[in-house]
Amino acid sequence: MSRNIALPSGFPDPAGLSGSYIAGKWQVAADPQIIEVHNPADAAERVGRVAFADVRLAEAAVEAARAAWPQWRAVPLQDRKHRLAALLRRIEAEKESFARLITLENGKTLREAAAEVDASLAEARFQMDFVAEHLVKKQGGYETRHEPLGVVLLITPWNFPLATVLRKMIPALAAGNTVVLKPSELTPLTAVALFHLMDASGLPPGVANLVLGEGPVVGKALVQHLDVRAISFTGSTVTGLQLARLLDARGVRFQAEMGGANTLVVLADADLEATADAAVSAGFACCGQWCTGTGRVIVEQEKYAEFLPKLLTRLKKMVIGDGRDARVNMGPLISAQQRNKIEQAVQRALAEGARLLCGGRRPADPALQKGYFYEPTLLADVTAEMEAAQEEIFGPVLVAMPARDPDEALALANGTRYGLAFSVYTRDAEKAGKFLREVEAGLCHVNLPTGFRDPALPLLGWKDSGRGWPEAGKYGLEFFTRTKAVYGEPATCSKPERSQ
Ligand code: NAD
Repeated sequence: MSRNIALPSGFPDPAGLSGSYIAGKWQVAADPQIIEVHNPADAAERVGRVAFADVRLAEAAVEAARAAWPQWRAVPLQDRKHRLAALLRRIEAEKESFARLITLENGKTLREAAAEVDASLAEARFQMDFVAEHLVKKQGGYETRHEPLGVVLLITPWNFPLATVLRKMIPALAAGNTVVLKPSELTPLTAVALFHLMDASGLPPGVANLVLGEGPVVGKALVQHLDVRAISFTGSTVTGLQLARLLDARGVRFQAEMGGANTLVVLADADLEATADAAVSAGFACCGQWCTGTGRVIVEQEKYAEFLPKLLTRLKKMVIGDGRDARVNMGPLISAQQRNKIEQAVQRALAEGARLLCGGRRPADPALQKGYFYEPTLLADVTAEMEAAQEEIFGPVLVAMPARDPDEALALANGTRYGLAFSVYTRDAEKAGKFLREVEAGLCHVNLPTGFRDPALPLLGWKDSGRGWPEAGKYGLEFFTRTKAVYGEPATCSKPERSQ
């Protein structure tokens, strides 16, 4: 069954068919695989239909980007900035439609989707201004120039279908590269909507190309294309490590933001109410499908028994349902497959001796049977050797672990293969300082939720949470350019890319 949804012109029509956007045209493969995108809150509701590209179209996208590069890199910086600013204004003007579309294809609540759109725009504007300001740096009579690389490939996941795309695409284009985007096969429509706006913004054909399709098919073909100069990937650790092995051997510039088993440490002197709020907000936002969300709560033993009921009280108040309903504060999981994975992970945790304090099942409410819902789940008494302590669950499941003292909490925090986001809640600056020095994670917080970020700071997980270059902050520019030291007469150094 398909239901009509109100989307402005250019946004995917549930009854229409969206293809890939290559060389300034919407294109469909000769014998396309047609995929229906359904609302994860109601699998009977069709949100749109897309035609997956084939390897030939993927190659055509790289060729279009290569052909467009000489012209795009020659566009004066201020002009590139002007065009990208126009695109961001169009996104801003359509932000409610974007939020609605993200809710429909991803399942997160409208509030969460609107927050994603706002954060994406803020980060995109930061990146655009940062690139414009730093592309050319005058040092005395000399200059350091950041020159674009050529064709860059952006591969993105489904959990933040707009934020992960703009974070990469805006600095890449502002710096003078041309791009090929391969979004997740589970959330292609947000990318389609974005490219409709790009088309309307009048970017020259081939500057930005969109290839829809499966990772192991078109993703693989794009990664292997010899004209791709750099690859920016966000997704799972399994895929990221596979790409890293392949690309290390070829010497292609690579950045990978991957999974995490993010930890929030609660020391005995912490404000327990504020800490419980932070654990639940970062643990269950986007139904736990948030790369920097909290997966593990490690609590100093003397407050463990007091802290768990505070989590429970909050979880029992959560309202699960369709993200379009303003009363709902947790939507569904992205797919049936993802829900099966979560169910199995919880069953294994219980078999290993974890104690189930709430959730651990699908909701019984008849109104929720058409979606991929799962109750907010709290697993207590998890120990270091259990899989639930070691692996990313990526769903609405919080794992609680007691620790004798701060030293043991630190050892537990560091005792996984991941190192993405971390937070410690304490009133003791010295203890917090020791965690900040010794914790192995790329994003570290004191008395802030693990998901907190500022666009000016870099994003790169340690250990198996990241590979290659960081992204965001100043790395938006650094990753997508190479430097050229220019020694010459100031007059000859002053045009056309001067930014100061
Ligand atoms: P995924 O690895 O399954 O897919 C990510 C992207 O890679 C998709 O576009 C997919 O089609 C593509 N892909 C898959 N196989 C490929 C191949 N062989 N060649 C080329 N491309 C390929 O990840 P996912 O399930 O979409 O995303 C969820 C994961 O992303 C979670 O682990 C989450 O923690 C992580 N994530 C990390 C961050 C971060 O900043 N660290 C942000 C968001 C999500």
